[in-house]
This record gives sequence, C-alpha cells and structure tokens, in this order.
Amino acid sequence: MPTVAELTDLYGNFMLGPHPGPGVCEVCFTFTESHARCFICAQQNSSLDAVAPISYSIASGQLHHALAGYKRLGGEVARRLQVELAAVLWRFLVGHEACVARAAGTSAFDLVTTVPSGSRARDEDHPLRRIVSELARPTRTRYERLLTRSDVTVQDRTFDARKYDVVRALGGESVLLIDDTWTTGSGAQSAAAALRQAGAGPVAAVVIGRHVKRDWRENERRLRALAQPFDWSSCAWHGC
Ligand SMILES: [Zn+2]
Ligand SMILES: [Zn+2]
Repeated sequence: MPTVAELTDLYGNFMLGPHPGPGVCEVCFTFTESHARCFICAQQNSSLDAVAPISYSIASGQLHHALAGYKRLGGEVARRLQVELAAVLWRFLVGHEACVARAAGTSAFDLVTTVPSGSRARDEDHPLRRIVSELARPTRTRYERLLTRSDVTVQDRTFDARKYDVVRALGGESVLLIDDTWTTGSGAQSAAAALRQAGAGPVAAVVIGRHVKRDWRENERRLRALAQPFDWSSCAWHGC
C-alpha cells in the first residue's frame, strides 16, 4: 500500500498553493486587479467563514484533468484518481485543518460534509462522498450527509440557499464543507447558506482546486510567481 505522501508527491509537481495578498480575492483566492474581492465575491456577502483552496486548478491542467476524471472516467482510472485525490485532501487536512478552523473562528470542525452536485441524478452516487466518507482518514469519522439537492430549479452557477435541503436541524455545530472545485463558488456558498439556516455554527469550505484560466488578464504571470514544487507545509491561511 502506498503512503499518503507517496500518493501525493507527484501532485506536488503541478499543484500551486494560493496565498493572500494584494490582487488576490479575500474570499476565494482568485486573482483580481488590485480589488479586495473578485467580481463574483463582491456581488454578495459570503455565507462561508473561510474558504481554503488547496491549490489553483488551471483550465486543462493536470489537476483539472484529475478533478474531472475522478467522476467522469470509469473503472480503474477513476478509482485510482479517487485514491490520489483523497490522499491530497488527507495530507492537506493533517497539516492545515487547524489553520482553516482558526480562520473560520473555531478551534475544530464538529461535522464534515460535501457540497452536493447541482444535479440530483449525479449526486446519488457521487465519488466525492466516497473520498470524504471512506477514503480520507481526517474526514471519514466526522462525515455526515447533511445536504441533498432540493427540488427547486436553480440556474447553474447561481447562488441560492434553496438549492439544497439540510436533512436535519443543527444546534450550532461547526461544519467543514468539502468540494472538488471552486469556479464561481455558487455551490459551496449556497450549501453554507442552507446550513446556516438550519442552525449551523461556523462553516468553512476546503476545495481541492480553485479553477483559474491561464490566459485571463495577468493570470499567467501571477501563476508563474507561485512556489513550485507545492509546499505542503503552508496553506492559504497559514499563520493568519
Ligand atoms: Zn472571489
Ligand atoms: Zn496552514
């Protein structure tokens, strides 16, 4: 059995860790032109107390292919990607869950859940749940399927708390939401809003890949300036 470090070392060659600073969105860590928030995050109050992308995911890059392939490809290839992505999540949370909790104003997360797919059919057998509830040791004992896709029709990539149903009332528990990719953040933000309405305490999101396009404005230059190989000892909230 390969170790978590062995399974993730290859990913360290192409993962790019976000860090806060000028020209980086304070909510989702995408690159901005000197604004504190990107266009989308500026439109609304964030329902999340902290968002921690493990890495940027460049369109058509290696992480992007892994994050698409683990759910789209079948058979052994998909299962291998699920194990690798679970190891990425595992290694990140061992090192940095405390950083994310601190950023969200709590000492630890009581519950862990996943952001459901936007489509009910796809959500029924979603491999992200396997990663979080079975494969990744830091999350599996606290995992609970708290959210399901509701019947409400919501446009893709639109924030709406009615998008998800919460399966039970909460009593102030802190919740760590896990998602594979953040593009607009509408899924994670809608899920966090629904959890809050159900009585959750602090809610944070860890996403494996913060989707970015290399050819958008200054992104190529900004991405090149990031540390390589990936530094597993640091995170977006390290030392904050
Ligand atoms: Zn943003
Ligand atoms: Zn950290």
